Amino acid sequence: MGSAYELECKSCRHEIWVREGIGMIEMIATQTLPFEISREFLGVFDEYPKVVKETKIWTDKNVVEKSESRNRFYKCESCQLSYNHLWFRFVSCNNFFEPSYFCESCKSKLNLLDSEGSVEMLEEIAKTYRVIGCPECHSKDISEVSLDMEIILYD
Ligand SMILES: [Zn+2]
Ligand SMILES: [Zn+2]
Repeated sequence: MGSAYELECKSCRHEIWVREGIGMIEMIATQTLPFEISREFLGVFDEYPKVVKETKIWTDKNVVEKSESRNRFYKCESCQLSYNHLWFRFVSCNNFFEPSYFCESCKSKLNLLDSEGSVEMLEEIAKTYRVIGCPECHSKDISEVSLDMEIILYD
């Protein structure tokens, strides 16, 4: 159902996954009914407390009739950095909700990209982490793990 590629921090060996499509964990985390429960157990949105808060506000006021989710790519138009985030859409009878993500460098709101090729985006995402640094140790020494070895299909 999806594919994933790996970037690695040369300094602390932290793995950064670049994903497209959808895995089981993300699917469970964005099913509407157990949204609150599942995100606590799965930790999918731990880094994005604002997304959790805004989703909760919306789901408290709206009855979700349909939901859709997958990993997609986002771009900061002001500093041109690209990001890979879990996109989802909850639809009610007259409204819909999608999460907002923000640039970690300049804090601008990110734009959702139409392009979904994770191979093409891998180099762009690597560039981003070479600017914003490793999430664990802030080192900017980020490398791509050999694609031949690391392409995986998950779920
Ligand atoms: Zn690191
Ligand atoms: Zn930016």
